[in-house]
This record gives sequence, C-alpha cells and structure tokens, in this order.
Amino acid sequence: MNTDFLIIGQGVCGTFLSYYLQKEGRSVIVIDDAKPDSPSRVAAGIINPVTGRRLVTVWMVDEVLPYAWKAYSELGTDLSVQAISQKNIIDFFPNPFMRDGFLQKIETGDQYVHAYPEQNHFNKFFHFEFGCGEIRPVYTAHLDKIIPAWRSVLSNAGYLREEQFDISQLEIEPDKIHYKGITASKIIFCDGAASFDNPYFNQLPFAPNKGEALVAEIPGLPDHNIYKKSLLLVPLAEKDMFWIGASYVWNFDDASPTQAFRDNTENAMKNWLKVPFRIVEHRSALRPATLERRPFVGTHPLHPSVGILNGMGTKGCSLGPYFAKQLTDHLVYDLPIAKDADVKRFEKVLSRK
Ligand SMILES: Cc1cc2nc3c(=O)[nH]c(=O)nc-3n(C[C@H](O)[C@H](O)[C@H](O)COP(=O)(O)OP(=O)(O)OC[C@H]3O[C@@H](n4cnc5c(N)ncnc54)[C@H](O)[C@@H]3O)c2cc1C
Repeated sequence: MNTDFLIIGQGVCGTFLSYYLQKEGRSVIVIDDAKPDSPSRVAAGIINPVTGRRLVTVWMVDEVLPYAWKAYSELGTDLSVQAISQKNIIDFFPNPFMRDGFLQKIETGDQYVHAYPEQNHFNKFFHFEFGCGEIRPVYTAHLDKIIPAWRSVLSNAGYLREEQFDISQLEIEPDKIHYKGITASKIIFCDGAASFDNPYFNQLPFAPNKGEALVAEIPGLPDHNIYKKSLLLVPLAEKDMFWIGASYVWNFDDASPTQAFRDNTENAMKNWLKVPFRIVEHRSALRPATLERRPFVGTHPLHPSVGILNGMGTKGCSLGPYFAKQLTDHLVYDLPIAKDADVKRFEKVLSRK
C-alpha cells in the first residue's frame, strides 16, 4: 500500500497533523496503539495564557492562543463535536504573598490577569481566606471528544492501524520509507514519550516529566469556570465531573499513579471544598517535555524521509495544533518552521553516529 505520510501516534499531535495533511489533499496512514495512559488521554486540555506562580505570559501566546481557538473550532465543526470551550480561571490566592503578586500583575496592565469583583460569589463552595482573581481568556480543549471522533474518521476510511509500531521493521531510503507492506514518502513520529527510545531521535534533549490527576464527582459545583488554588479543578463534559491536578515531577520510578499523590490531593480538596466530592479515577502519564521547553518539529537532518512532531511538554493542547500546521506547511509548501522549534537546531547532535 502506498501513502504520502505514515504517522506514528494519534495523540493531539498526530490528530492535528493527519487532519491538516488530509486537508491539503495528502494521503496518510496513522498507526496508534491507543495507550490509555498517554498524556493526550490524561490531560485536562487547559490552554492558559499565563504560567507558574509569577503568572508569566506563555511562549508565543499572541499567536498560539487565538490559533488554538480557531484550530479546535474548525476541527470540532468538521467532526460535529464541541472541541473547545472558554472557561476562565478563578484563582483563589493561597496566601497573602500570592495575592500581592497577582494584584501587582494587574497594576502592570497585564492583558490576561484581572480583578474579580464578586469576591463572595464562591463562598458556598470553597474555603478561601485571601480572596480571588480571574485569568482570562482560558480555554479547555476537549481532547476526550476530538481524539476518538477523528480516530473514527480515520478508521472508517481505512487509514488507521490500531497496533504497536515496531521500529525494527522500518526501512528508510532518502525519499521513502517501507514498513510492513506500507510505502510512504515520509514517516512522522508523533509518538510522545515513546520517542525517548527512538533511534533516530533519542539524542534530542527530552526531559520526561510525570503528571498525575484525579477525576471526581462534585455535585452542584458550577461548571462555568476552572478553579485554582495550587491545584486546578477543571469541569469535564459529563455533568458534575471535574478533573483535579496535576503533579509535575522530574524524579520518578515509573509512570504509574502513586498513593502519595492521591492522598495529598484528596486532603487538599477536603481543605478547599465546602461541598462533598467523590474520587472516581486516578490518571498518570509522562509528558514529552524537553530541557529547553521548546518542541521538536521537522525532518531529521540526515534522513529527510523521517520527521518528528513532539516535545510539547505541558503545553501540547496549544502548541500541538499550532506546530502541526507549521509542519504541514513545511512538508507541503516547504515553508519554514519557527527557529526555536525546528529540530534542525540539533543538527550536530542528530548527525553523531
Ligand atoms: C497529568 C497531565 C496533565 C496535562 N494537562 C495539560 C493541559 O491541561 N494542557 C496542555 O496543553 N497540556 C497538558 N498536558 C500535556 C499534554 O498532555 C501533552 O503535551 C500532549 O498530550 C502530548 O501529545 P502528543 O501527541 O505529543 O503525545 P501523546 O499524547 O503521548 O500521544 C502519542 C500517541 O502515540 C501512541 N504511541 C506511542 N508509541 C507508539 C507505538 N510504538 N506504536 C503505536 N502507537 C504508539 C500513544 O498510544 C499515543 O496515542 C498534561 C499532561 C499530563 C500528564
């Protein structure tokens, strides 16, 4: 079987890349083993314009934020699912220092950090002694809707192989690749943490990061906002269901859920919430993070038929669609990839034998 592109992985990156390439009239085959603990199946989907305790504006926010809204809305329309919603963050200050930092940020005229005038609005639901502010706009990408819906489209058209990709079966030539009866002009790896062991890309400075989250039923808690107080509480599509997370751990034994995270998070929830809740799920995954917190996008400097879209770290929901489009434009029209993201910046490292 011949195809233009063989794509490995159907997380957020593989989904958008295969979608864009098809829109450009290119044929694709996607191989994905549907690992339930892949980050795209564990994430809350938050697209937040600021990050960290200091509320630093995220990298490329002016391009990436509006692009995310457009990209998910278009894909959602094509798939007839709600792919994205705006749910601003109500940020409950955990202490006076954080409140002062937030207020100082407002005074600088920051376009995403705002006062929240109705300070008593959430008294019925939360304990909070130091007030709250608002971060907006903040979006939630509904990966739990898009990924299965796009998978059905691929599967119905015969473009999906639900199986484990075995790299020992891959043969590459400068202008094509062969894999188990498939010949493609390029193979593109969108396989998240699996790329840490990929012989073509394992020299890249990946920095795996473990994240855990809980899902809880919280009857009656309004679902118009994301709530934050050290933890994030994110409404899910199903009524009364909320995602709670996440941890951010550099040193870990394996990718499985830990009792310590569950106990600490449950205790924090008891201290924060005034209403009852019930934990129904515990999720955990490895984020494909990178040492310099920038993605890896493009084709291998020595093997032009081998490409990568990876390294999205904590921001896959916003950076994934944006760089899937850049990579598509690069592959189809030879347009440049942003320097900070282009994997060619590691030409020397990737050229080592
Ligand atoms: C707890 C947690 C919370 C997060 N929250 C957010 C958030 O709110 N917002 C945000 O932007 N980001 C968030 N992230 C990060 C985000 O999830 C990732 O950046 C993103 O999902 C990475 O997507 P990806 O497509 O590159 O990789 P993945 O999601 O890992 O997808 C790779 C796919 O490839 C498949 N695959 C891998 N190897 C093979 C193989 N050999 N054969 C076949 N298939 C294979 C896997 O099954 C998977 O389907 C979070 C991550 C975690 C862990």
